[in-house]
Amino acid sequence: MQTSVDISTRINERLQPGVSVDDALKLSKQILRENQTELEFNEPDFEAKVLLEHACELSSVQLITHANTRLTNAQLSRLSTCLQSRVEGQPIAYITGKQAFWTLELAVSKDTLIPRSDTETLVETAIGLPLCENAQVLDMGTGTGAIALAIKSERANWQVTACDFKPSIVALAQDNAKRNGIDIQCILSDWFSAFEPRLNRPEEQARFDLIVTNPPYVESDSSYLERGDLRFEPDSALTSGLDGLSDIRHIISQASKFLKTNAYLLIEHGFEQSKAIQELMNQAGFVEVETKQDLNKLDRATMGKFPG
Ligand code: GLN
Repeated sequence: MQTSVDISTRINERLQPGVSVDDALKLSKQILRENQTELEFNEPDFEAKVLLEHACELSSVQLITHANTRLTNAQLSRLSTCLQSRVEGQPIAYITGKQAFWTLELAVSKDTLIPRSDTETLVETAIGLPLCENAQVLDMGTGTGAIALAIKSERANWQVTACDFKPSIVALAQDNAKRNGIDIQCILSDWFSAFEPRLNRPEEQARFDLIVTNPPYVESDSSYLERGDLRFEPDSALTSGLDGLSDIRHIISQASKFLKTNAYLLIEHGFEQSKAIQELMNQAGFVEVETKQDLNKLDRATMGKFPG
């Protein structure tokens, strides 16, 4: 196993002062390719480009137009640190501090899951629902705000609320709303905890036309957690008991209190969990229970309608 010092020495031997943008790109690709097996799921050429852009504060186009420009010492040192973090396994999104999702660019933090393209299935399903003009939508466990913001970006008249259980996460979602110029409400709530007292206060929003969530759902002893980026993401966003269904059970059992008549509950889940979730929804009185697949044709989201 290589130590941090070994990695740093090997990177600095390659990236010599005075290196051009073009050569820095080639060398960064080589460095990441050599570590591809250990990093898992990575795309070394693409990642090298992203890290070089980040370290040099250059756009994709500038990487080409400035191909022969030499890196300053500060840029070189930033690039070397970024490559080192990546070779040590840190997710690209945590190194650059951002992640693209839907049409948005989102800031990420180590408190939240890095938004994944699989979750776009949830957004597509949500915006395809026949909700009323001014529908009230709740995204529970919003993390970066990805789902809430993507939905609101497509359905400007819907009133979207996003909640999460940590103040730092709520602040991150709020910040992402501001960065993207999208108006959503972000609330501190551990699942339904902030909405429960509102049920007795008719002036406050407690019941929704759609509740959407990407909760933690990985089995707590799954070997999947030891792979790639997941090693660095918070457990609170990934796992939920031995069968991965603890939070989903809680959400399904409580959701009807917070749904209007004929409103929908839409949940992302693991590709082998659809049957269990359909059963839970049916038992809880939901109708028209249906599972959607992601782009890889894997069961990814299940929804049901609450008849009231
Ligand atoms: N989707 C995550 C993954 O498979 C698991 C946890 C989650 O999204 N809620 O990596």
